[in-house]
Amino acid sequence: MSAQLLLEEMLIKRSQQKKRTSPLNYKERLFVLTQSQLTYYDGRREKKFRRGSIELSRIRCAEIVKNDGGIIPCQNKYPFQVVHDSNTLYVFAPSNDSRSLWVQRLKDEIKDNAVVVTKFHPQFWQEGAWLCCRQVEKLAMGCEEYNLFGDISRKPLPPIPGQKRHNKMRRPPPPLPPECDDDEDYADDDNVGEEEEEAEEEEVVVALYDFTGTESHDLSLVQGGEYVILDKRDVNWYKARNKFGEEGYIPSNYVAEKTSGNLVQFVWFSKQVNRNKAEELLKKEDKEGAFIVRDSSTPGTYTVSLYAKSVGEGGAAIKHYHIKETQGLPLQFYLAEKHLFGSIPDLIEYHKHNAAGLVARLRYPVGKQDKSAPSTAGFSYEKWEINPSELTFMKELGSGQFGVVRLGKWRAQHQVAIKAIREGAMYEEDFIEEAKVMMRLFHPKLVQLYGVCSQQKPIYIVTEFMEHGCLLNFLRQRRGSFSLGSLLSICLDISEGMEYLEANGFIHRDLASRNCLVNDSLVVKVSDFGMTRYVLDDQYTSSSGAKFPVKWSPPEVFNFCKYSSKSDVWSYGVLMWEVFSEGRMPFEQNQNHEVVILVTNGHRLYRPKLAPPAIYDIMQLSWQERPDDRPSFSQLCLMISDALEGDAPPPN
Ligand code: ADP
Repeated sequence: MSAQLLLEEMLIKRSQQKKRTSPLNYKERLFVLTQSQLTYYDGRREKKFRRGSIELSRIRCAEIVKNDGGIIPCQNKYPFQVVHDSNTLYVFAPSNDSRSLWVQRLKDEIKDNAVVVTKFHPQFWQEGAWLCCRQVEKLAMGCEEYNLFGDISRKPLPPIPGQKRHNKMRRPPPPLPPECDDDEDYADDDNVGEEEEEAEEEEVVVALYDFTGTESHDLSLVQGGEYVILDKRDVNWYKARNKFGEEGYIPSNYVAEKTSGNLVQFVWFSKQVNRNKAEELLKKEDKEGAFIVRDSSTPGTYTVSLYAKSVGEGGAAIKHYHIKETQGLPLQFYLAEKHLFGSIPDLIEYHKHNAAGLVARLRYPVGKQDKSAPSTAGFSYEKWEINPSELTFMKELGSGQFGVVRLGKWRAQHQVAIKAIREGAMYEEDFIEEAKVMMRLFHPKLVQLYGVCSQQKPIYIVTEFMEHGCLLNFLRQRRGSFSLGSLLSICLDISEGMEYLEANGFIHRDLASRNCLVNDSLVVKVSDFGMTRYVLDDQYTSSSGAKFPVKWSPPEVFNFCKYSSKSDVWSYGVLMWEVFSEGRMPFEQNQNHEVVILVTNGHRLYRPKLAPPAIYDIMQLSWQERPDDRPSFSQLCLMISDALEGDAPPPN
């Protein structure tokens, strides 16, 4: 019988600072909570990938970490802590909901432990001190009463009168016998109840792309080369060392951790490619045996998408094969029965030469090697000022609220979009200050800000160039050509970009299809986030102004200018409506002041013909009157990706 699984999710773990000098490390780990243990794995729930495990009976406190605006140098912005023995494990969840769930579950499971603390530290232990109380002794008594029965990220619960906290004392049980599945592993485990030793180890990464350093403090990368990571404090620019002992900054998204379980290091693997995108990429390539290995919709599992040109009648077909695992140990992988392999790379290698039950052999990996290297967060570490003499200007791309946008090149090499800010259009100083923050917002579904030329007039804003321009025109120009999958894929891209903004506490304030852009690979990215705050035009900024985006705004915004991630969610619903109506104007027949009345009276946009009812349900959830009733972007991402994987009924 296997231990009952309570929770399982990819979270980020901060490794312990064992030496004062060793940098903090943030690593993605698959966390698994059962009734007896909290275990974390490097990617997959298998013994060889396990990095640490804590018996629940040893846990003394599980609680959120209050961060009070401190910088969290990893993607997940919702920290919680698990205090066990004399250690504290810091874990970062992708959303508030996920964090609450973990903390609550852990509290439920440890409530009868004998060792629960009465006081705890609500903030991080960092650089030799507790940030909350400034005590420098790591084992110093906590400074805040511990409430085992409440969730401090919500509202603290009053103490329960007359109730003793730990009346059902539970002694730490003796070491458990193996419990099946993974359990044999526990017998020879030498780090149960301990942190993994990775803070002491050197972290080695593999370069996925070439990178030519642009400043003297950068380190260039050669695809396939190995590098040692020295400092990860900046989530976008790691300090690294190459095999010649040279040190410098590298873009963190150009490298992947070199561990046996990490598929990202292989050319045939593409993270963040869903079924629909895989089909688009394979069709575009149009080669017999073209294939992509990608994440399946079930976390921790993988799918091979394979293109065969001459199958049955009418030519090409795309097949999706789930990589299956055998039940017992040792774990083995297979695509077609009888051909078992000890690892996924071995399996792929075999099927490169043998179709063995597949519609073709895996001849031609489609993915990274064809793609140009992705954007970086700025051109170098801590560089936001761009020298205008290093820019060359090419054709005009369009013009907007702030001025004309042109295609250009930086140092004659990198394509960029350059926005020249029209005089009197922007609160420039405020924006330039904020640009430093915005440069650090970095996600594949956000249009990247590369820097500014702020020492001249007009000032320039330099961003990632998006070949197909704005989404609204893209939808309008291609009306009638979109499949359900491609429409959902557009929505998913945007929800992913927004999920990142939400997790970083950044509010867009003007999410609409006109503020999303489409690139050459048909990836849709969110643009112009937060920019309305710098617009110097009453017609645009006042809710009664003619240019105010009333049709994209929830009641709390057009009435009280109360912006939040949940007001972005409302706008996202309208944006979904734009996508499914292929670029129609919402409330086409109505003026802004009429829309205010309609929406206030509970009226909502109708269901576009291309939107199946299940998809329209998602839009309607986004248009709940009470902000709290609307889903979060992380929930929206899940709903849309489920729909994309074929759970939604076909359009009617
Ligand atoms: P503003 O922020 O001044 O209102 P926009 O960002 O809306 O300006 O840009 C105006 C137009 O310029 C867009 O509709 C789009 O066609 C084009 N454009 C803007 N940024 C880019 C970019 N990064 N890549 C390609 N085209 C762009």
